[in-house]
Amino acid sequence: MDFTPTAEQRQIREMVEQFADEEIQPRAAEIDETDEFPRDLVDRMAELGLMGMPIPEEYGGAGLDYHAYAMALEEISRASGGLGTVVAAHVSLACNMIYEYGDEAQKEEYLVPLASGREVGAFALSEPGAGSDVPAMETTAERNGDEYVVDGGKLWISNGSVADTVVLFAKTDPEAGAKGISSFVVRPEEDRGFVVEGTEDKLGDKGCPTAELRFEEMRVPVSRRLGAEGDGMGQALKTLNGGRITIAARGVGIAQAALDEALAYAGEREQFDQSIGDFQAIQHKLADMDTKVQAARMLMHRAADRKMRGKEYIKAAAQAKLHASEVSREVANEGIQIHGGYGYVKDFPVERFYRDAKLNEIYEGTSEILRNTIADQLLDS
Ligand SMILES: Cc1cc2nc3c(=O)[nH]c(=O)nc-3n(C[C@H](O)[C@H](O)[C@H](O)COP(=O)(O)OP(=O)(O)OC[C@H]3O[C@@H](n4cnc5c(N)ncnc54)[C@H](O)[C@@H]3O)c2cc1C
Repeated sequence: MDFTPTAEQRQIREMVEQFADEEIQPRAAEIDETDEFPRDLVDRMAELGLMGMPIPEEYGGAGLDYHAYAMALEEISRASGGLGTVVAAHVSLACNMIYEYGDEAQKEEYLVPLASGREVGAFALSEPGAGSDVPAMETTAERNGDEYVVDGGKLWISNGSVADTVVLFAKTDPEAGAKGISSFVVRPEEDRGFVVEGTEDKLGDKGCPTAELRFEEMRVPVSRRLGAEGDGMGQALKTLNGGRITIAARGVGIAQAALDEALAYAGEREQFDQSIGDFQAIQHKLADMDTKVQAARMLMHRAADRKMRGKEYIKAAAQAKLHASEVSREVANEGIQIHGGYGYVKDFPVERFYRDAKLNEIYEGTSEILRNTIADQLLDS
C-alpha cells in the first residue's frame, strides 16, 4: 500500500491548508464563542469547490477521489471541528445519498445545487428514541395518492436548521421493522409541516447547528422518494460507512491541531530555567501524540483506498473512525496537559480541540457500535 499523495492530491491539500490557515483559523475562536453558522465561510468553501468534493463534476461537484476529500476535510477540521461537521454532513451524507440513490431528475434538481455549494444539505436519521437502534424510529410516511404524509420528528440533525434539502428517513411500513424504512428528499422551504423545534447547546462542534425537527402532516411528493420503498435502512448504513472515513478525517485534523499547538507551546514555555520541551516526560508525550496521529491517518487512507478500489470497506471505515476518534480525544487531552493550567482556559485553543474531539466518539456510530461492527465483520469472515 502506497498512500504517497499524487501531485493533484498534494495541490488540493495545500490549497485547503492555506484556506484553513488564512480564513478559517482566524475565525475559529469566534465561531466557538458565538456558535453561529458561518454562512460566509460556507460560501467561500463553495467557491473553492469544497462543498461537493467527491461528487462528479456533471452533478456540480469537484470529482475528487476519497483520499483528496479526506485530506481536505482533515485540513478544514484542523482549523474548526464545527466546520468539519458542516461539510461532512452536507457532502458525505446528504449529497452522497442523492448521488447514490437518486434518479437523474432528482440529481439534476437537488444534488447539483448541493454539490456546487449553492444550497446546504442535512441527513435526518436519528430520533429521540432511535439513535444506535435505527429501526426503532417512529417517524412515518404514509402513502396517499402521489404524495406521502409524514409525521414524527428527528433529533441531533447537523445543519438541520439551515438546510435547503434534508434527506429524511421514515417508516413507510411500520410493521416491517428495518425493512419498512424509506428515504426522501425534503425541502424545508416548500414542504408545509416542516418545523425546526430548536438547536442544541452543545459541549463543542460549535458553528454547526444541531437541530431538532418536527413534521406535522408534511406532504412530500412520491417523486422525491430515493430508490424503492423499504430500501432506506440499507441506504443509510452504506452512506454512513463512507461517512465514517470523513469523520476519521475530522478526528485526524483535530488531533493534528492539538499536536501542533502542544509542540509550539513546549518550545516556548519555560519552567526550572529550561524549556518544558527539554523534559523527557513532555518529549514522550509529544512522541506518542505524533505516533497516534500518523497511525490514525494511515487507517483513514486505508479505508479510502479500499472504497476507491471497490473493495469491501465496512471494517476498514469502522476501524479508521474508531481509532481516529479515540486518538483525537487522547491527543487533545495530552495537548491540554502539556499546556498545564493554560490549557484549561480559553486563552489557548487546546480546550476547544478536546470538546470538539469528544463528538467523534458519538456520532455516525458510537465507538461501542463500531466495535460491534468490527467484531461482526471479523467473526463473519
Ligand atoms: C452533535 C451531534 C450531531 C449529530 N448529527 C447527526 C445527523 O446529522 N444526523 C443524524 O441522523 N444523527 C446525528 N446525530 C445522532 C448520533 O448519530 C447519535 O447520537 C448516535 O448514533 C448515538 O445515538 P444516541 O445518542 O441515541 O445514543 P444511544 O444509542 O442511546 O446510546 C447510548 C449508549 O449506549 C451504547 N449502546 C447503544 N446500543 C449499544 C449496543 N448495541 N452495544 C453496545 N453499546 C450500545 C452507545 O454506544 C452509547 O454509549 C448527531 C449527534 C450529535 C451529538
